Amino acid sequence: MNKRYVLFFLLLITIVLPALSQTPECPSQTYVLEHPYSVEKITPPKGHKIKNVILMIGDGMSLMHVYSAWTANRGKLWLDNCQYVGLSKTYCANKLITDSGAGGTALSSGYKTNYHSVGVDTNGKPLKSLCTLAQEKGKSSGIAVTCRLWDATPADFCCHNVDRDKEMDIVADYVNCGIDYAFGGGAAYFENRPDGRDLFKELQSKGYQTPRTWADVEKIKSGKVFAIPYSKDTPVPAVRGDLLARASIKGLDLLNQNKKGFFMMIEGSQLDDYGHSNDLDMLMQETHDFDKTIGEVMKWAAKDGETLVVVTADHETGGLTLVDGNLKKGEIVCKFSTHEHSGVMVPVYAFGPGSENFSGIYENTEIFWKIKKLLKL
Ligand SMILES: [Zn+2]
Repeated sequence: MNKRYVLFFLLLITIVLPALSQTPECPSQTYVLEHPYSVEKITPPKGHKIKNVILMIGDGMSLMHVYSAWTANRGKLWLDNCQYVGLSKTYCANKLITDSGAGGTALSSGYKTNYHSVGVDTNGKPLKSLCTLAQEKGKSSGIAVTCRLWDATPADFCCHNVDRDKEMDIVADYVNCGIDYAFGGGAAYFENRPDGRDLFKELQSKGYQTPRTWADVEKIKSGKVFAIPYSKDTPVPAVRGDLLARASIKGLDLLNQNKKGFFMMIEGSQLDDYGHSNDLDMLMQETHDFDKTIGEVMKWAAKDGETLVVVTADHETGGLTLVDGNLKKGEIVCKFSTHEHSGVMVPVYAFGPGSENFSGIYENTEIFWKIKKLLKL
């Protein structure tokens, strides 16, 4: 054999092939929470009566997100006040790895549906959400999110479409969904629509107040509210501050005027976005903002005494892994394994009366059926 061929084969075997077979190492990111926040111990209420349920969804939040956020905050989270913990299996009807459309529909309506569907079953038939069922029993219902309202999670609770990308059609469903309080972004598709409809005017004709600034939301003391102060998503946590907590508590105070009780869904919407973009810094900012909102909501629920708080996720996003860090310094070193969602059971935390029902391992749909039973819907 020619010497050059021998050299070529030697090169191929010793350098080229091993290099090709190796998975490229994904880079790690380091994050330090400069100013840790304080966390209090909240005593859960002693009674067993359940008048209200608050379902809090961290979009794309897995145990890894929670543990990373816990480490960065020097070993404390408001979430740690929860009394019971379970695990939820998130796969959807036609895919192992779900999206927010199908993942949220399982939570809002109790059925596994197809990937990218919102509020409909696998045949495209509209499903009744916990919001609708609460209304049918004379209770109030509401939602507070940091994303645009046509995004999948809020839409899962109020809208019906086989395709989450039919955004114009999805937002139009809000006019007839009957909820008592909505806070979020997405004003852009409520007005100046290609079909000529002005959804703000339509909501007003149905008796809704439609404040467009937080200052105007604050002035409202009673009645039905559709508060959409932002054109698309709400600003980043550093700009919006504790807006999600404020908007949530405002909703709770308004809904609580109904003596029969209420159901409310609160979402930390943008954990998912920064999981997709593999941005650890922003992901932790959103996770901590969601945790602080959980703290405010838990304090409200503990004072009320008849409110169950359930905190969960619809799926994991980013394949987040904590690979190193320092608990004392609040430093975390993480890697992401994907820009998409990943397949893992997500945690379910519960606080307040009825929380014992949420321990165990179950399908995501069970969260709906448990809440439905406990609220007697
Ligand atoms: Zn999601």
